[in-house]
Amino acid sequence: MIYLDNAATTKAAPEVVEAMLPYFTEHYGNPSTIYSLGNESKKAISQARKTIADALGAKAEEIYFTAGGSESDNWAIKATAEAYEGKGRHIITTKIEHHAVLHTCQYLEKKGFEVTYLDVDENGLIDLEELKAAIRPDTILISVMFANNEIGTIEPIAQIGQIAREHGILFHTDAVQAFGQVPIQVDELKIDMLSSSAHKLNGPKGVGFLYIRKGVKIRSFVHGGAQERSRRAGTENVPGIVGFGAAVERAIRTMEERTKKEIELRDYLIHRIETEIDHCRLNGDRVKRLPNNVNFSFLFIEGESMLIMLDMKGICASSGSACTSGSLDPSHVLLAIGLKHEQAHGSLRMTLSEENTKEELDYVVENLKAIVERLRSMSPLYEDFVKKNGK
Ligand SMILES: *Cc1c(COP(=O)(O)O)cnc(C)c1O
Repeated sequence: MIYLDNAATTKAAPEVVEAMLPYFTEHYGNPSTIYSLGNESKKAISQARKTIADALGAKAEEIYFTAGGSESDNWAIKATAEAYEGKGRHIITTKIEHHAVLHTCQYLEKKGFEVTYLDVDENGLIDLEELKAAIRPDTILISVMFANNEIGTIEPIAQIGQIAREHGILFHTDAVQAFGQVPIQVDELKIDMLSSSAHKLNGPKGVGFLYIRKGVKIRSFVHGGAQERSRRAGTENVPGIVGFGAAVERAIRTMEERTKKEIELRDYLIHRIETEIDHCRLNGDRVKRLPNNVNFSFLFIEGESMLIMLDMKGICASSGSACTSGSLDPSHVLLAIGLKHEQAHGSLRMTLSEENTKEELDYVVENLKAIVERLRSMSPLYEDFVKKNGK
């Protein structure tokens, strides 16, 4: 099997699993208890919190553990809306956010909040002038993702943070794809809230965190016990949190070397596809791009068919239509960068890890070429095109 879907989820690293195991069986105490068994758990959580805070240049008490990226996004946006609605009810975000952000914003619109969804250019970048123009006296939050999960584009986060700070508006970023892949320092970038999820960086599923800058007025998300400084109740997911800490430690330690290798593989794959397959388009910015993201649209082809045929060759990838989520709508991200419906439907996302090899990618390209040719040979649209324009 060749796994090229690391934006969907990643394999837990062996050292992460190893770090977690004792917290299921040996150190299983509830961290809220006062005997020493519980204390072991409590210490482990503190350590993970510190590792994560250090990675971001934050303070340990600014890290709040959650059940994942979706929860962190929900919390940041809903709780800000609630805490600051006295100041205003206007939120700015973008058209290419993850659904955890978009659907939360739509929910708030139903509650009477107003949301501006910024456009992006053909590479997926927001326009800073457009952002400035969207700011109103009643704007309380700007939420722009650090890097896009479909096309890999990295947004101008430092400039957005600067603009938000100058206007006294809170800045939240969904960094689920970026954290562990690019260096992030919350003070330098003037980030007030940041969402992350362990399973996107070789950690376990079902655990995330929300960084909340000290001083940000934010409401509790889960009411109950006093865990997470009374802001997110519920007995902590101790093994998950320990695994997250180990995953972050590993991600930071290996970042330079790992991403260098990924970039080489990424650029090799992009180059081979661009030079060997006709009528394709690279989606996302060429330079401001996640180290492991490759996203192409192939004309005259359905992404779903491609995925099925790749799967038969043992290759896991993802397509730009949202079929997987039970709808036939093309990806909102690909439409936002200006693709036509048929281009968006014919897209393929391959997200690499440092474990992939050039040989694997050669195998992928050879199969992809054959699959594209085969699917096009069955496409009436392609037949028409060739009749009119030649190959
Ligand atoms: C995966 C992802 C999420 C959701 O994270 P979960 O932990 O799966 O809930 C949110 N935002 C982005 C950009 C993602 O890639």
